Amino acid sequence: MAAMVALHCRRAHRTAALCPTCADLLAYANVRLDRCPFAVKPTCAKCPIHCYLVDRRAQVRAVMRQAGPWMLWYHPWLTMRHWVDAWSWPVR
Ligand code: SF4
Ligand SMILES: [Zn+2]
Repeated sequence: MAAMVALHCRRAHRTAALCPTCADLLAYANVRLDRCPFAVKPTCAKCPIHCYLVDRRAQVRAVMRQAGPWMLWYHPWLTMRHWVDAWSWPVR
């Protein structure tokens, strides 16, 4: 998440460090992750609960839409790990 938000911010907001909006979103995501009720966490996109507030979820979607396609280029290992996590989570 941190890598994707950083990539999004660098490309969309043209800042060297995270802008306040992206820093706030990342802090929110980290709190949600800390409080995630799953022992074996699914990828949030496949989560049956979706603990994010509606507007935060929309923000994350926008980040994923913008930065997602670039993740494989800039962070291939993280991207492949994310794919494996998504594939290995049991379908409910
Ligand atoms: S969306 Fe689901 S998987 Fe993601 S942090 Fe919230 S409860 Fe956990
Ligand atoms: Zn930003």
